[in-house]
Amino acid sequence: NLKDWCISRQLWWGHRIPMYYCDECGWEDASVDEIEVCPACGAPVRQDDDVLDTWFSSQLWPFATMGWTEEGMDAPQMRTAYPTQVLSTARDIMGLWVARMVMASMYCCDNTIPFEDVIIHPTVMAADGKPMSKSRGNGVDPLRLMEDYGADGMRFGLLMQVTGAQDMKFNEAKLESSRNFANKVKNASRFVLMNLEGYEPGAPEPVTPADRWIFSRLAKVVAAVDAAYDNFEFGEITRELYSFVWNEFCDWYIEFSKARLAVDADPADRVACQRNLVFVLGQILRLLHPIMPFITEEVYGEMPKDEGAAPMLIVAPWPDAAELSRFVDEESERAIAMVCEVVGAVRSTRSRYGISPKVALPVAVKVAAEADAALLLAQAHLIGQLANVEEFEVAVETSKPAESAVVLGSGLEVYIVLAGHVDFDAERARLARERDGLAKDVAKFEKKLSNPGFLAKAAPEIVEKDKAKLADLADKLTRVEAQLAELG
Ligand SMILES: [Zn+2]
Repeated sequence: NLKDWCISRQLWWGHRIPMYYCDECGWEDASVDEIEVCPACGAPVRQDDDVLDTWFSSQLWPFATMGWTEEGMDAPQMRTAYPTQVLSTARDIMGLWVARMVMASMYCCDNTIPFEDVIIHPTVMAADGKPMSKSRGNGVDPLRLMEDYGADGMRFGLLMQVTGAQDMKFNEAKLESSRNFANKVKNASRFVLMNLEGYEPGAPEPVTPADRWIFSRLAKVVAAVDAAYDNFEFGEITRELYSFVWNEFCDWYIEFSKARLAVDADPADRVACQRNLVFVLGQILRLLHPIMPFITEEVYGEMPKDEGAAPMLIVAPWPDAAELSRFVDEESERAIAMVCEVVGAVRSTRSRYGISPKVALPVAVKVAAEADAALLLAQAHLIGQLANVEEFEVAVETSKPAESAVVLGSGLEVYIVLAGHVDFDAERARLARERDGLAKDVAKFEKKLSNPGFLAKAAPEIVEKDKAKLADLADKLTRVEAQLAELG
């Protein structure tokens, strides 16, 4: 459905149209070589003042930027860098420019296609879903965003909002979480760097199940990030990295490492732990570098380096997924996943009942299989260290102890014994009063919202508000009932 389109444009920059005119005798022609005098009558000629329109110039871009206009296909840059790999573009110029780049390259450059892939990236829209524009005043100033969230935070936060080629509504609030993430990366790096006393460079080697777990997770994340890059899923990359770095490396692996780094720890194991921290952090910096180049380069500059290591992160080799795959270890992943669930269950129960972390609590865990029981029991010291647990029991066949809280995990149940720390009678009475009050409110809203008279007369936003209120009350009621059941 293409229609004819003007080839020229009146601008003072661009490729000037190679048309020559003689005002004396009326001769005119196009010429590759510059012409000064008329071939018909010898009078001076003039070249057309117009330049090629943008679409026409743009179609020449893939090869005109590579020395083709001077040396053709033999230009050194044509030999090394043409065709290119990826063209990144917005959707609206596919037909006008991108298709013409392909046509012009095939015509001028031995029937070659100028790029292997075209990635159509989303367009960032204003929060109201309309295109950002100066006249509407709905745009954002990137310099201000960098000021507020850091250049790395802005880059990471923008990519985190990408889902495929779909245009996105810009959400500034999301940059806050990426700024916090950037700070998390800095703080975790500082922790590692401050705990390197007595460090000796050497090959990383997973010694403990926690080491084997983080190495295994790292191997899988590198593979997932590689796959996402292959498919141009940039949002997916940030989500993988955010969750691995924050929820696994910072929240757990660093915690697991603290006891091994202590002054009174076994010196050999301390060095092993330091090497592993340096290794995993180094791989994380490489993975984050394309998106957060500034913070990662700064941290890399302070990291200890083995002989022959890249002087700067930007030239350091990318993590090698094939090489790392030897670290994949499902058993250690299962063991540590269970450790995290048990520790999380004890911590959330403490905060729910206001019990200090200084008070040791007896904990029993019901697991689905004997193999899980063995894996979890072998990590009892980690659980004791992170959750202050005493009398830790794990079994396939076990029942809920008296006066205990229960937390359901995936494939396991955690019972935290609260006897002596919670007044169960008072707690039951308090919860029962709360339940009765909530049940009354739920009934009131249900009655109101099933009344046809109210629904017909009330404004829709009032009805919506009441519905939300009812959902919230019903949710609270369910949770109070569950807590009551837990107390038995
Ligand atoms: Zn002439």
